[in-house]
Amino acid sequence: MKPYTRVFQGTAFTSQSPKEIQILKDHLFCINEDGMIEKMIAPEDKGYQALLDAYQGTENFQRLDEGQYLLPGFIDLHVHAPQWAQAGTALDIPLYEWLNTYTFPIESKFSDLDFAKNVYEDVVSALLANGTTTALYFATVHKEASLLLAEICAEKGQRGLVGKVVMDNPDQTPEYYRDADTVSALADTEEFILAVRELTKRTKQGVYPVVTPRFIPSCTDDTLKGLGELAAKYDTYVQSHCSESDWEHGYVQDRFHKNDAFALNDFGLLREKSVMAHCNFLNDDDAGLFAETGTAVCHCPISNAYFANSVIPIARFHSKGVEIGLGSDISGGFSPGLFDNVRQAVMSSRMLEDGVDTTLSAEERGVPNSRITINEAFYLATAGGGESLSLPIGRIAEKYVWDVQLIDTTLETAKLPIYDANEDLNDIFQKIMYLVRPENIREVWVQGEQVHSRKDR
Ligand SMILES: [Zn+2]
Repeated sequence: MKPYTRVFQGTAFTSQSPKEIQILKDHLFCINEDGMIEKMIAPEDKGYQALLDAYQGTENFQRLDEGQYLLPGFIDLHVHAPQWAQAGTALDIPLYEWLNTYTFPIESKFSDLDFAKNVYEDVVSALLANGTTTALYFATVHKEASLLLAEICAEKGQRGLVGKVVMDNPDQTPEYYRDADTVSALADTEEFILAVRELTKRTKQGVYPVVTPRFIPSCTDDTLKGLGELAAKYDTYVQSHCSESDWEHGYVQDRFHKNDAFALNDFGLLREKSVMAHCNFLNDDDAGLFAETGTAVCHCPISNAYFANSVIPIARFHSKGVEIGLGSDISGGFSPGLFDNVRQAVMSSRMLEDGVDTTLSAEERGVPNSRITINEAFYLATAGGGESLSLPIGRIAEKYVWDVQLIDTTLETAKLPIYDANEDLNDIFQKIMYLVRPENIREVWVQGEQVHSRKDR
């Protein structure tokens, strides 16, 4: 038997199912050279002591300190990497105006590779420091800068799925920031796919190209069709925005006389490896089509509070078998952390269930059975994201990759209120989910490699 590259001893939390947490108390986690969890051993299992004796005291062994816990790394299914440069600004204006007055001018600057490098290095580092081990990124229309983002993910050890954004519809995009025409948009996308496929051959954790029409309004029919064909030809991931706001949903109805979901499907863009951001306005037929094609919904709860004119019915879509993950939607969402988005997902769902208009009676005010629990929101940020991407990530389990965040609850500057040494681990899990700040995230590992650590106390 080959020796393990690393063995960790400690307590971990992972999703057992969308509603249940599994607590792996004082387990040994054995990592192999591919960065996979080859074996997990519970204290009561045969072989626990022998393995402990073999590895304890060696440089490959790490025992978690008192008050430290492991969680799976987070999977952020929707990040506009260039918008990190404007995070937190202009959240008080409507989507259409926000795109035209803030976002497109910023994104157009990424033709400058020096500027791109500055922002992209920062955003990848910021996400890693927030426990995000896998991220699905929109870059910009620029092929070179998009490739640079994939290279930075590769180098910093993050599992990046990156898309060169396509937007060529002259009616809906500014002249200074769009693909010149269908032919060049498709040619650039194809070259980008091939370049990232080369890059991933020398990247342990993998980087992946993503076919990325910005959203239906910004693309012409020919381009949408061509992108669907490229996704099929290279079996790539696909990402876009779907049924986000009243304006966007209405625009697609006017142009195609159908909802986004069916329009995207007609162009071959709903596939097992497709992730659609927002999807607030999916009706039951749309949700059925998502489930049938294996397309995942990326829920972006903070962004939705500003731009989506609604709260997405996550519980209803889950019950219909739709795969759902979580996204920060930087910078429609201001936070680079999925902890913030986990919390907002729960709070928004509670407001949907109870309703918000106090002039209505309690019976009329809300949408029954809409709430999700903290366990479910954690599932969206981890296992749900892994299933959305069809990758062995988002769980701490055998045959999954060692993508984890090590949380320290005892930090002097960010101490969690845990006073009983025998406190129920379910309660500790909930305190972690609600109270952890980035400084509590002491180590982040991707594919068995440490990619972030903090030494300050
Ligand atoms: Zn977005």
